[in-house]
Amino acid sequence: MATLLRYFGPLVLIFAVACVCIAEMQSTPPTTLEIPAAARSSASFDVKTATDAWLASVPPDKKARSDAYFEGGYWLLLWNFLLSAAILILLLTTRWSARIREWTERVTARKNLQTLLYFMPFLLITTVLQFPLAVYQGYFREHHYGLSNQTFAAWLRDQLVGLGVVAVLGGIGIVVLFAIVRRLGKNWWVWGAVASVIFLTIAALIAPVYIAPLFNTYKKLENARIKDPILSMARANGIAATDVYEVDESRQSKRVSANVSGFLGTERISLNDNLLNQCTLEEIETTMGHELGHYVLHHIYKDILFFGIVFLAGFAFLNWSLNRTLARWGQQWGIRGVTDVAVLPLAVLLLSFFFFLTTPIENTWTRTQEYEADIFGLDAARQPDGEAAVDLKLGDYRKLDPSPIEEFIFFDHPSGRTRITAAMCWKKENLELETRK
Ligand SMILES: [Zn+2]
Repeated sequence: MATLLRYFGPLVLIFAVACVCIAEMQSTPPTTLEIPAAARSSASFDVKTATDAWLASVPPDKKARSDAYFEGGYWLLLWNFLLSAAILILLLTTRWSARIREWTERVTARKNLQTLLYFMPFLLITTVLQFPLAVYQGYFREHHYGLSNQTFAAWLRDQLVGLGVVAVLGGIGIVVLFAIVRRLGKNWWVWGAVASVIFLTIAALIAPVYIAPLFNTYKKLENARIKDPILSMARANGIAATDVYEVDESRQSKRVSANVSGFLGTERISLNDNLLNQCTLEEIETTMGHELGHYVLHHIYKDILFFGIVFLAGFAFLNWSLNRTLARWGQQWGIRGVTDVAVLPLAVLLLSFFFFLTTPIENTWTRTQEYEADIFGLDAARQPDGEAAVDLKLGDYRKLDPSPIEEFIFFDHPSGRTRITAAMCWKKENLELETRK
């Protein structure tokens, strides 16, 4: 999915509102939850002391390693943007983009077919040139930090499948977008934004059924010890689910995760095999409570609305900046105007610049929803210690205790400290409710 991410940026969030935790592989699932002494229920229970005790239970070398991993991600955001910008500028200034368009015009006179023909070498060239960074980030770096045990062949196979998905969905999307631009003249950007959101919504709708199974096998969870309390919690919160799915994500990664994906009838609650193998029932329950929260709070629909607005702003910026850039360099690069498919590298460059700069806004939106789902999960599962334990497992790949400014800019989920503080706050208030009875 990495390629998909690169092209569709933050909107891929719509594909799956995904979450949770990660841990070292263990051969047998743990059955008892270890609670630090200062976080146990008592008359003198204090939220900050309990939160600090949970955070202090992570060995310093482990914390240093996950901080390094996560902080490296800040730079990767920049390197990815700069590399793709360099490739796109290369396509424009060498006039390769214009030459590919000339080739499509020799092959066919039909505009839609020309657009589709243009997209294929464009996708291939950009993917090949970005490949070294993709291999480093997606394969070597994950192995270096002990987050994956996938073989290179299996990893490459996933990349090729992802490229195939982008070729099909991206090909259709680009043809439709250029047809709109050609037909709607000056207001193309409004309808371009609307079409993009509709298109990504459809992609989100079909993703759980047609895309996710290309990468993993989903099967119904049979273990009654785990399935029954999850379904009971779902029913108690107004969800008439009859099945929970288990997905074999240990193929790709050691991360523990769960997600809710799809909508309008393709909804699916899935938890991965790492979660089942490495977490206690308390941790699994609070995780599923969180996922049910995304569903009950209609986060997918709110995402569509939010990203609809972001896309409208993005396309407004695109319209403005495209006209200015073309007036200055259009002739030099052999681009005839906004209706010319050779403009694609420039359009992608300007849009990715917009999304790069607005990353903190998209992250804050998502992080806020994740926090809401955390609170929902605490209320639904009533497992604050399970929540804290699972939050620490996230600490294997997400910095546990960042500064507020770091959390604001880079975090698309709340940090470990924020999440554990919420869990311990819930625990304290509910302890007090208990004693008042
Ligand atoms: Zn979530």
